[in-house]
Amino acid sequence: MSEELIRSFETRLAVSDCHPGADWYILFVKLHEDISEALPYLNSALEQPTDYRHSERILLWNSGKKKYAFRADEIAIAPASDNDEARELSGSIIKTVNNIWKRKDEITPSFEGRKPLPNVLDIYKLLPGSNCKKCGFPTCMAFAAVLRSDFMKSSLCPQLSEHDFKKVAV
Ligand code: SF4
Repeated sequence: MSEELIRSFETRLAVSDCHPGADWYILFVKLHEDISEALPYLNSALEQPTDYRHSERILLWNSGKKKYAFRADEIAIAPASDNDEARELSGSIIKTVNNIWKRKDEITPSFEGRKPLPNVLDIYKLLPGSNCKKCGFPTCMAFAAVLRSDFMKSSLCPQLSEHDFKKVAV
């Protein structure tokens, strides 16, 4: 018998109820196994940011331009453009979940939800204040306000230390 946590699944693409005219879909990966026990391990091991709600057994994760929602028997991913991308995304996320589950003895599970958003001034203090616009924003303060809720943009400022930013924001 296979040792994989997820051994089989089905996929379906659906139009988003919130964006009915959009040219992309939500990919639903229906799992034939229950992964709720794995969610705290995923919360710990997946690259941040994640947001875990233990009482509801739901884990949210942003990775690049994709958003993931893990539930006991389903993983929803958006946006997905077509069946080819659906195959690629589903195969990749199943592999990731199975790999993390295999390593669970080395991982401390996390039952924590997302930390409150950091203070804009705390982020601003990490920026040089030169308003050079290289990040695409008119001022360091404007960039700090954006970073508060979109950590992924941190690399846009060449002078922001990832190490310092993670201490404040993740
Ligand atoms: S690139 Fe950095 S220093 Fe320049 S404006 Fe943006 S945040 Fe400020």
